[in-house]
Amino acid sequence: MPVVLVVNSGSSSFKYQLIEMDGERVLASGLVERIGEGEGRAEHRTAGESFPVSQDIPDHTAGFGLMIDAFAAHGPSLEQNPPVAVGHRVVHGGARFFEATVIDDLVEINIDDLSVLAPLHNPGALQGIRAARRAFADVPHVAVFDTAFHQTMPPAAYTYALDRATAEKHRIRRYGFHGTSHKFVSEAAAAHLGRPLAELKQIVFHLGNGASAAAIDGGRSVDTSMGFTPLEGLVMGTRTGDIDPAILIHLQRRAGLTTRELDDLLNKRSGLVGLAGANDMRDLTARAEAGDVAARLAIDVYTHRLRAYAGAYLAQLGGADVISFTAGVGENSPHIREAALRGLEFAGVELDAERNEGARRGEITRISTDSSRVAVLVVPTDEEVEIARQAFAAARD
Ligand code: ADP
Repeated sequence: MPVVLVVNSGSSSFKYQLIEMDGERVLASGLVERIGEGEGRAEHRTAGESFPVSQDIPDHTAGFGLMIDAFAAHGPSLEQNPPVAVGHRVVHGGARFFEATVIDDLVEINIDDLSVLAPLHNPGALQGIRAARRAFADVPHVAVFDTAFHQTMPPAAYTYALDRATAEKHRIRRYGFHGTSHKFVSEAAAAHLGRPLAELKQIVFHLGNGASAAAIDGGRSVDTSMGFTPLEGLVMGTRTGDIDPAILIHLQRRAGLTTRELDDLLNKRSGLVGLAGANDMRDLTARAEAGDVAARLAIDVYTHRLRAYAGAYLAQLGGADVISFTAGVGENSPHIREAALRGLEFAGVELDAERNEGARRGEITRISTDSSRVAVLVVPTDEEVEIARQAFAAARD
């Protein structure tokens, strides 16, 4: 029974799952947090039980030590069942990594080099990789990149109309993110419909706190809404998504905002939070229904943007066979799904109101009518399983 350990590491925490590959079942999961911040915390979870501990965790190496102790104390035993691969989530693979890659010292150097493009993410992933490679020295470690799936985009989709020399010097182009989820969801959608991936034109809306859309032709990403960073595109929990970049210049000149203040404004104080003071779509929907004007506007701006991307990708693909919704909002909010596709009947999109309302958590559900030319699906995403699959495959090659 092969098992794969999946690790998602940041600079002061990491999460893990041990996944049994035959049934793609999670045998155990956990998290280690507040690494290097005084009193740290770890929690190991196995079937229905959780085992928390609090103690000083000076670095990632100590964190992996705690995780291994937790497996030994509470199971399942890693000695009897050693992982055949360790899959690491890495946010940025630049233009260098277009698939899951077995990690050696050179790959580490490349991930480090890409920290310029993802200063908040790649350094933490690398700390996790280094510690995990020491803790599991005889096992292949595989980096699975959020950007990799989008490396198939054509130049017309990934090139910004910026001065070429400047763009090239600073590696500025669209990279796209959430690739692991877009790949998982588009493959699950094809399997659910019983149709070959290679024949399908798909649009996927990944709507969590971060949100992105992807246009996928025959299983290959051909466009996506996140760009050079995960800030571009859709309206998100706290991020603006698309805005006129001249607004930044204006705010710098007129309001004297510093680089740090602009970064904070665009990434943390905008989006749904900026518009209505909250980023939980449940609260916003309830408030809008009760007549709250700010909440109503926030939802309208959010869904207006979704329709704009749906329209753009229908045009880029020349129509779609499948549109899927995934992640927290996409899987749970019938209202947002309905508003996102309103007016798209001309393109063959016909939602079934009852199916849309009745979509059940954790299950793939078709929410379009039987006669709809476009199949609209709710697909629960599973980035950990996708990382495990890719790590397992790369380790065997
Ligand atoms: P992350 O990007 O952090 O992984 P998730 O995919 O978990 O985010 O999505 C989180 C968001 O999902 C929350 O901000 C909330 O708005 C939304 N959400 C979760 N459950 C529901 C629900 N039942 N109805 C509407 N929105 C929901």
